[in-house]
Amino acid sequence: MERKFTNEITKELVGKKVLVKGWVFDVRVLGGINFVVLRDKNGYIQITAKKGEVKDVILQIVSKLHQEDVIEVEGIVKESKQAKKGVEILPEKIEVISKAEVPLPLDPRMVTPANLDTKLNWRFLWFRTEEARAIFGIQNEILKAFREFFYNNGFIEMQPPIIIGSASEGGAELFELPYFEKKAYLAQSPQLYKQMGAVSFERVFMITPIFRAEKFDQPTHLNEVRQMDVEIAFADYEEAMDWLEKALVYIVESVLKNRKKELEVLNVELKVPKQPFPRITYEEAIKALQKEGEKIEYGDDFSKLQERKLGEIFGEAFFIKDWPEEQKAFYAMPKEDNPKIVKAFDLIYKGLEISSGTQRIHIPELLEKRIREKGLDPKDFKFYIDAFRYGAPPHSGWSIGLERLTMQICGKKNIKEVTMFPRTRERITP
Ligand code: ATP
Ligand code: MG
Repeated sequence: MERKFTNEITKELVGKKVLVKGWVFDVRVLGGINFVVLRDKNGYIQITAKKGEVKDVILQIVSKLHQEDVIEVEGIVKESKQAKKGVEILPEKIEVISKAEVPLPLDPRMVTPANLDTKLNWRFLWFRTEEARAIFGIQNEILKAFREFFYNNGFIEMQPPIIIGSASEGGAELFELPYFEKKAYLAQSPQLYKQMGAVSFERVFMITPIFRAEKFDQPTHLNEVRQMDVEIAFADYEEAMDWLEKALVYIVESVLKNRKKELEVLNVELKVPKQPFPRITYEEAIKALQKEGEKIEYGDDFSKLQERKLGEIFGEAFFIKDWPEEQKAFYAMPKEDNPKIVKAFDLIYKGLEISSGTQRIHIPELLEKRIREKGLDPKDFKFYIDAFRYGAPPHSGWSIGLERLTMQICGKKNIKEVTMFPRTRERITP
């Protein structure tokens, strides 16, 4: 008999025999009737075993079932006033495929609430909750919409390397690893590689893990991140912001259209951010914070609290552009009229930086000069600088942190909640 998924069991099947497989989400005895709620990847179905209506052997099996046992059930679909879906299954055969140990370290029904540590320690059990399914359903939608948007616009998907020979942005944020006779690093960004893609393929995007070796202690930071990156040849930074704005709107619209149920589960009221997104300058942002009495000077980066405050002032989604060069990486293109300022931008969404981008330097001499000024050695970047010696158009790009965006869309306060297997200083298992 062919297996049916729970979402396929509708009123049209009343009177028909079906086979379902899944986990025991709940077992209850009410007024002498045994109810089992079976969960599979698509949802739930109630299985009702009433004395006199089913064989005694079935009643015996049901009476020994525990939450999260894996079962196979054959039975007849019946209309039911009590069952949530309006249908239930009258069991003719139940087979226990795998028993769950008792007690469960985490209750997937969330009747007994779990704290964050328990949710992180028992990740696979937490994946069985409505909450986790909603979060990762939405994350799936974000990934799908991102890919779809850029495929629809003629971009090419790239696969940048994770193991790299030199720092992409410089600085001490790199995880080092032994690599045969040499030292290698885990990529902190696909930056150099996506630029090499763009000077040949023109329009590229990628979804790739990156690693940051900082001792973070913030609910917004992980040591392993999934980034959604884009690089566009012949685009200046204003055009890169246009693409970012359109991509974010497309993603939010897709979540609204296809993940209504998940948003309800999370109790989130999502709206498409108002367009066009304001593009304020870094200097304007500093002044606005100073006016609010914040301790911040021109040249400082914004703290996470200050990003939130800026969100209250400038709205749900806006860009901060024209940054002082010391705040941004060596590859950021200086402005023609003031080389102390670079053509860089951050996107703040619901009070948190979710993306950064720049117009890149495509002129080898200028790039070498900037690498030296940042205290790095141009020799380490030869392969990269060479990419701009054989016909390199101006180009710009950006990167969205997948977990940051998921967190903001799902209205979660801690990035670990929305990361399947978060990597932080304290945690590398599970
Ligand atoms: P922040 O200033 O918030 O620490 P960043 O400016 O160092 O971030 P970028 O190098 O601009 O980060 O990376 C691009 C995007 O990748 C960020 O806007 C963010 O969405 C995401 N991201 C970067 N670092 C982290 C991290 N440690 N944890 C989670 N997401 C991150
Ligand atoms: Mg940034």
